[in-house]
Parts: sequence; structure tokens; C-alpha cells
Amino acid sequence: MRTLTLQAPAKVNYRLDVLRRRPDGYHDLRMIMQRFDLCDDVRIALSDIPGIRVTCGSEGVPDGPENIAWRAADALLSLAGRETGVEITITKRIPVAAGLGGGSSDCATVLMGLNQLLGLGLSDARLMEIGVKLGADVPFFIFGKTALAEGIGEQLTAIEQIPPVWLAIVNPNVPVSTAWVYQNLQLTNRSDDFKMPRLYSSIADICAILGNDLEAVTVKRYPVISEIKERLRSLGAVGALMSGSGPTVFGIFEKEEEARQAVADLARETGWFAVAARTL
Ligand code: ATP
Repeated sequence: MRTLTLQAPAKVNYRLDVLRRRPDGYHDLRMIMQRFDLCDDVRIALSDIPGIRVTCGSEGVPDGPENIAWRAADALLSLAGRETGVEITITKRIPVAAGLGGGSSDCATVLMGLNQLLGLGLSDARLMEIGVKLGADVPFFIFGKTALAEGIGEQLTAIEQIPPVWLAIVNPNVPVSTAWVYQNLQLTNRSDDFKMPRLYSSIADICAILGNDLEAVTVKRYPVISEIKERLRSLGAVGALMSGSGPTVFGIFEKEEEARQAVADLARETGWFAVAARTL
């Protein structure tokens, strides 16, 4: 096999606690991370012409070595000592610099896909070790389950029982830099003896943990985030929160029709990006 086309899903954070700043500049986090079915397509093809080529063509996404998918291929080829040529084509559907982990998911997908195409036989644990050096959210997308993520995001515990929900994903079309959000975060002392629940039997259990320490930072710069949350609640969302460093907001809905109606209304009345999605 020489070509593989895979889907790279997006994520939301049902919870994001920033526990402390670390000496290495990263932050220790405690997150509940959930994938959903808004996906980029990632086509990976082996080639006889040496070198890695990445094309995407979406605004705000670099082609070539600046693309995190390029760095994933480079890391894997170096480790395997292979000179094979690799062509990667990304069809972007996940909004960029949006808090939905699109780049990290593309990166994880290239690590998994090339491992398969080249027959390297690397374990997921090994791929996650390679992935965390490329981006803190990369291991989560290799893990492939709803997870409690600790450390910088690489210490993953599966949340085995959590109900699937319908989401309305709404983005006001402004890119937000994750680095900028962390630079502007005022850390308050937080006790980290809080135990995040591992069992979620109902949508109400999910809504009970919704929270994001980064939200206040991004909302201050982009108050439209608060407006989106209010609109989603008035359209029937039982919970609404900014994901990651934002600015994307997700609303949680009990019924598919409600989520679809909400995004149709918002897309019609505003210029926002709005899609309904199912959790994976
Ligand atoms: P994170 O919170 O992990 O930074 P995000 O969802 O907020 O993720 P991404 O869409 O992953 O943000 O992109 C962040 C930046 O990374 C973009 O501004 C873009 O220039 C760069 N980038 C590099 N490769 C990719 C890629 N494959 N897809 C999207 N962005 C990429």
C-alpha cells in the first residue's frame, strides 16, 4: 500500500484547569478532552522522489516545514532511518487557531498513518512519546478515547463511560494564538486535590464539570464569545463553553434537531462559522 487517506477529528475541552506554571514554560493542566466528528482529511502517499511535501491551501495554514504535519513525517522518517518521499495533502475543515486542536490532530494522524504505510510497527505509546515533542495535544489524538489529560496534556486516563452528545460548534472567525492566551493568563492559587469524576452517566454529569480557566482571558479580548454562549443557551443548549484557548464555543444539546436548528439560526443571523457535530 502506498497511499492512505485518514480523517483527523477535532476536540473540545469539557474542562480545562490550569494548575501551575512549570519552570520549562509549559503549564500543568487538568483537562477532560472529547473528540467529535468535524474532521480534516489527511492524504498520505509514499513517493520515489525523496523529501517531504505538505500542501494544504487553507488560509492561515503553512505549507512545507512549518506545517506540524511535515514535522510529524520528518520525526518518523528520521527515527526509522528512511529516505522515502512523502506527499501529504490536508483538506482543512476544522477552523484554524480556534481551540479545536486541528493541527495536533493532523500531526497525530500523520504519525499513525505513516507508521502503518511504512510498516514500522511502533506502538501507540511510542507514537505518543514522539507526538508530545511536536505538540502537547498530539498524544490525546493518538490515544483515541475521551480522556482525563494531565501534565501538559500527555498523561492520559480513559474516561470509559460518557454519554455521546450533539454539539453546536460556533467560531466568530477570529484566529486566537494559544501562546498569547497563556501569556495573558493571571494564575490564581488552585488546590489540585480536586478529583475529576471518571464516570459520566448523563448529560447533566457532563454539564456539571464544564469549565475553562482560559476563557476569561480570551473573552476579555473577544467579548463576542460571551454573546455566542448566551445565544446558544437561548437556542436550547444545556451547557456552553469556550474550547481550549478559544475562540470557538461549543453548545451541548440533548437532541440532534435542536443542535441543527441552532446552527442554522446562528449561521443565518450572524457571519459566524457554525456546524452541528456528534461526539466520537
Ligand atoms: P492549539 O490549541 O493546539 O494551538 P488550535 O486548534 O488553537 O490548537 P491550530 O488550528 O492547531 O490551533 O493551529 C495553530 C497554528 O498552527 C496555526 O496558526 C497555524 O499557523 C499552525 N499550523 C501548522 N500546521 C497546521 C495544521 N496542519 N493545521 C492547522 N494549523 C497549523
